[in-house]
Amino acid sequence: MKTEKLKTYYLIIGMVCLCFLTASVGFTFYSMEEYEKKDISHFKENVESMRNSVSNMIKGNIEILDGMALTIGQMEITDIEHLQPIIKKVNDRNAFLQMGFVDADGTGDMVDLDGTIHRDVDFSDESFFQKAMGGETAISNTFKDEYTNGYLNYYGVPVVIQGETVGILAAADKTDRLREVLDVPIFSKGGYANVIDDQGAYVVRSINSPAIEHIEDIGDFTEEELKNIHRELKEGEEDFIRFNKEGKKTWAAYMPLGINDWYLLGIVSKDATGSAYHLFAGMIIIVTSAMAIFIFLVYCITRVQVKNERELERLAYQDPLLGINNYIKFNKDLSETLAKEGFRKIAFWYCDIDNFKLFNESFGYEAGDQLLKSLAQLFDECARKDELFCRETSDHYVGIRYYKEPSELKAWYEELTERLEHYHIFKQQSFRLVLSMGFYCADMPEHLLTVNEMYNRARIAQKTVKEKKNIKYAFYSDSLHSQLLRENEIEANMNQALCEHRFKVYVQPKAALADDNRISGGEALVRWADPEKGMISPGEFIPLFEKNGFIVPLDRYMMESVCQWLHGYMAAGGRPIRLAVNVSRLGIFQEDFVDYYTNMKNQYQIPDGLLELEFTESLAIEDNSLLRQRIDELTARGFICSLDDFGAGYSSLNTLKDLAIQVLKLDMLFFKRSDNDEKAKIIIANIVRMAKQLHIRVVAEGVEEPEQVEFLKECGCDIIQGYVFERPMPCDEFERLLSKDPHGDWGSGFKRT
Ligand code: C2E
Ligand code: CA
Ligand code: CA
Repeated sequence: MKTEKLKTYYLIIGMVCLCFLTASVGFTFYSMEEYEKKDISHFKENVESMRNSVSNMIKGNIEILDGMALTIGQMEITDIEHLQPIIKKVNDRNAFLQMGFVDADGTGDMVDLDGTIHRDVDFSDESFFQKAMGGETAISNTFKDEYTNGYLNYYGVPVVIQGETVGILAAADKTDRLREVLDVPIFSKGGYANVIDDQGAYVVRSINSPAIEHIEDIGDFTEEELKNIHRELKEGEEDFIRFNKEGKKTWAAYMPLGINDWYLLGIVSKDATGSAYHLFAGMIIIVTSAMAIFIFLVYCITRVQVKNERELERLAYQDPLLGINNYIKFNKDLSETLAKEGFRKIAFWYCDIDNFKLFNESFGYEAGDQLLKSLAQLFDECARKDELFCRETSDHYVGIRYYKEPSELKAWYEELTERLEHYHIFKQQSFRLVLSMGFYCADMPEHLLTVNEMYNRARIAQKTVKEKKNIKYAFYSDSLHSQLLRENEIEANMNQALCEHRFKVYVQPKAALADDNRISGGEALVRWADPEKGMISPGEFIPLFEKNGFIVPLDRYMMESVCQWLHGYMAAGGRPIRLAVNVSRLGIFQEDFVDYYTNMKNQYQIPDGLLELEFTESLAIEDNSLLRQRIDELTARGFICSLDDFGAGYSSLNTLKDLAIQVLKLDMLFFKRSDNDEKAKIIIANIVRMAKQLHIRVVAEGVEEPEQVEFLKECGCDIIQGYVFERPMPCDEFERLLSKDPHGDWGSGFKRT
């Protein structure tokens, strides 16, 4: 996956997750607020209902006592003995622990449930007593009961006789009864209630309450907050407060009970509230975790995917031996570079190691691999910024080089070859490595082609180098291209042309110098008669046929055509004439070579000594032993063998020593006008002399000037073939020419003695 694609992919996932998360968080906060609001009002309701329960319970007690106090007042009975039956009657229903009448001086006789009377109990210092004497109904704070070991509260109700408060009706009630009401958990399990007074001090503590004595201790309050709480308690206001208790968020609400300036104080830890909120928060955590896991998985999967893709890309784009880019990657990169960049002069190069096969065979394949690596390293070292290269196949490298002048490319090539020589692997070896290189230069924007097209052109240029000896780099040109196209066309048509007999025999007569320049024979030369292009000369197709091997069937075709013509000519009464047929050296490698030529000669009944085979020299063949063998066999079968184009190309004086040839054809180049005419003459004279001494006849070819004829005659040259006498002509024309001189002794005088 491409990195950009991946980035967008991650961005989308990230954004979706972010939206989802933001929405979740927002919704959570909103819900939390809503839940809290609901929780608070629910909590307040709970505290209020508890306040009502407590208040009702106390008020119930007070109502009973109020009734009794009224009765006592009306009956004007205050001594305990008279009161006891009334108390007992009331207590049967209410079970006050103790009841009695307390005088205005604060002492009273109290009677227990079981009827025991406690005399002169002193309440004078108790605030409930003082309050009740003041005409208010009052409840005492919680007392420890020495007899039962439990806790109790005293109720005090004023007893009025004839408009004067004469004392109070006092009744003790178990604090536990109040507690039973208080002990019911409020709001949730963590909530509890206490009764406090207007100072904030605890009056009754419920069973769930921690051992605290004062409202100030229920949480961590600031001065300000405490002041506010105290003020509210003083003024009988109710309130809801939030605070922290040992780091825990806590809520409390206090509400006046309407008795004694007491308050019901409800407290709950916030943690114990909102279970729905916890559920919700849990859900959010789960969703978020799931999302995180999902993102992580996506990340892992894409990572593996990216890794795999990178590996695949590496395999697809990398040269397995050298670790550098392969042609596919090079092509891709270069195409992208060319599409992006503004125009710069660019040379596309194709490089081949000339003798790599030999190197491999000489030093082994490991050394060969090492060489390929060194070469890659060399190209890398010599490359400038943005210059790309790769190995295409085996020992073929391609690349680009930016340049301003073509001479820079030549200099670069020379630098490469020079540096290559210094590579350690060759230092000990006396092996000279040759790089042959072809360039396609795009020096104008319109010359920029696709990578493959430029590759093909650089390769065409490089191919022309392979055949050359000295210069090992070449530039692509349009003429090179059209030559290639021509060659392709020729190759496409050659077989058909052979089948359709489009190859024609032309004959160029040869003149014997010793015989008044009379025609002594001729050389058969091929012409391609094309229906569209007319007569095509062999210079255009013979070199190609020598490369592609088609020369062998063509030579045989020419041989047969010549035999056919000669047979017909002689059958019609023509005097025997010697004809030379060109034979490419490639042909001698055919096993049936001698047999074929002999069979043709026999088939058309051509007498010995009339057919001459000119071995052309266009191919360099180092080893002459096969040719020598062939020449010996052919000579034995009545052929005359000659060496064509002597002095040009690859022939040397050594060949004369090795080969038993009868005729030597001096190359045309000797007769081309030049500044070195005098030197040429010396060489010609000496070759002719040497040939004579070896009993080899000399034919001078390409002679155009009469002076040259004179000179050759003086030298002792035997035969002249050239435009000075005749040009190559069709067979029938040649036949007409011969008929003009019917007495010429054409067949004689060429036997080697
Ligand atoms: P070559 O065998 O050396 O043939 C002589 C070439 O020199 C002929 O060219 C001929 O036309 C040309 N020539 C003769 N006299 C003169 C002259 O005074 N001045 C100049 N400038 N040229 C002269 P052509 O026919 O074009 O043949 C070219 C080459 O093609 C031949 O050179 C030969 O190597 C090859 N060739 C022609 N026919 C055959 C063939 O049937 N088989 C093979 N293997 N090669 C052939
Ligand atoms: Ca020839
Ligand atoms: Ca020749």
